[in-house]
Amino acid sequence: MSFSDIPVDVGPVYEGERIRGNQMYVELGGPKIEKHFELVRVKAEKEIEDGKVTLIGPDIKDMELGSRHPIGILVEVAGPELEEDLEAVFERRVHEFCNFVNGIMHLNQRYTNWMRLSKTAVEKGFNSFQLLGTVLIRLYKAELPIIKKAQVTIYTDPKKIEEPYEMAMKIYEKRDERARSINDEDVDMFYGCVLCQSFAPTHACCITPNRMSLCGSISWFDARAAARVDPKGPLYEVPPGETINELAGEFSGVNEMIKKRSLGEIDRIYLYSGMEFPHTSCGCFEAIDFFLPETGAGHGIIDRNFDGVAINGLPFSAMANQTGGGKQMPGFNGISIQYITSPKYQKYDGIKAGLKSGIYTIVWMGKGVKERVYEYLPEDLRDKIATEEEVSDLSELPAWLENVGHPIVETEEYKVAVGGIEEEEEEWEEEGAMVPMGTVGMTIPGVGGAGGFKVILKNCKIHAESITIKKIEPKRKKK
Ligand code: SF4
Repeated sequence: MSFSDIPVDVGPVYEGERIRGNQMYVELGGPKIEKHFELVRVKAEKEIEDGKVTLIGPDIKDMELGSRHPIGILVEVAGPELEEDLEAVFERRVHEFCNFVNGIMHLNQRYTNWMRLSKTAVEKGFNSFQLLGTVLIRLYKAELPIIKKAQVTIYTDPKKIEEPYEMAMKIYEKRDERARSINDEDVDMFYGCVLCQSFAPTHACCITPNRMSLCGSISWFDARAAARVDPKGPLYEVPPGETINELAGEFSGVNEMIKKRSLGEIDRIYLYSGMEFPHTSCGCFEAIDFFLPETGAGHGIIDRNFDGVAINGLPFSAMANQTGGGKQMPGFNGISIQYITSPKYQKYDGIKAGLKSGIYTIVWMGKGVKERVYEYLPEDLRDKIATEEEVSDLSELPAWLENVGHPIVETEEYKVAVGGIEEEEEEWEEEGAMVPMGTVGMTIPGVGGAGGFKVILKNCKIHAESITIKKIEPKRKKK
């Protein structure tokens, strides 16, 4: 395979390239553009004109420096061994193959795809989507030899992208519906994926029927099909082995897999917990599940489209930095939207807190993600989860939860977090002991006001020689 006719280099060495705002020629898709997508479809050979690239909308050379545009990438492939189950796995490779191009940064997947093209690439002559389509076709056929023919259509016209976007959304939903039809107990094989290790070297997804990949694009069915056609590829079988802890979703085979694939960094995973030995997160997660210590055992969820700050005062980007990179981060988990609808969703954390299941730990959600999963939430919970429309100030959340009768308010963790901290502190003081672990609450007076804010540390050990808390004085204007 040669890319000598392409004006920039192409290869895996460029994966992980970052293109910052001041280096960018144009931005395609992403959170500021309403409709964008990428989709792969398997077609009959006679329907594909091999190598054909079609552009519907303005080309790169017609776009203004610094502008933003919609992007739809439709890759259609054919081959005698291809089956529909492979579409999602092929689709995930759009991310990888775009990132092979020196001068393209590609993030996310499906309808959250987000690309930047660098000024340097355009200056070198990468000024047409024809070039991108050609690169994709060559890489698909070279890296996945079962693909015999491929054609690419790229949409950048804001009106003409609407129809294929709606079609893509229907296809994603159909895939997700099928994925919801089986449970972990129904299968004797799980699957792993290391496609994101170029960004997060210690991350490997474990994909089970009840735990879709955190990028939200690879279900257990998709992973099974990929591992079958390319057993030495980035998706592979993970025999679950011995069940060590059924409630937590701890399996000897999954532990062995993560130990090997994280190069010894991580040796234990609870598939159904966000608080203890949680699944690692790369950076492609559809949503973030975050612990809200102020509610004892409660959690919040925001997705990538959430604009603004969540109930904990952080925007998606700040929480994503905390969550991603292949770390095991209790209290910050990258998840797929589909996992929220799973009966195993953080089940261990919910049952441990005395709730019916994990979903009952959710006390707050971004409105957009709540609307997407609303019909799958238990009926007795749906209207007891606040969104930014009901509560945007954390200090008001407990009163709201008590008012609607959210089951979290009956848990011991909630009562301690909201009302019982002073009592515990007194007990510890009486004993005169150091408190290495447990729940510690302290109030730090804020600048210029009574009350300040409360810091709750749960199940953590802190060793420090000293702590300095400084009041930041407002700067005086020079006269
Ligand atoms: S998020 Fe997981 S399943 Fe999705 S591409 Fe990355 S490693 Fe694979």
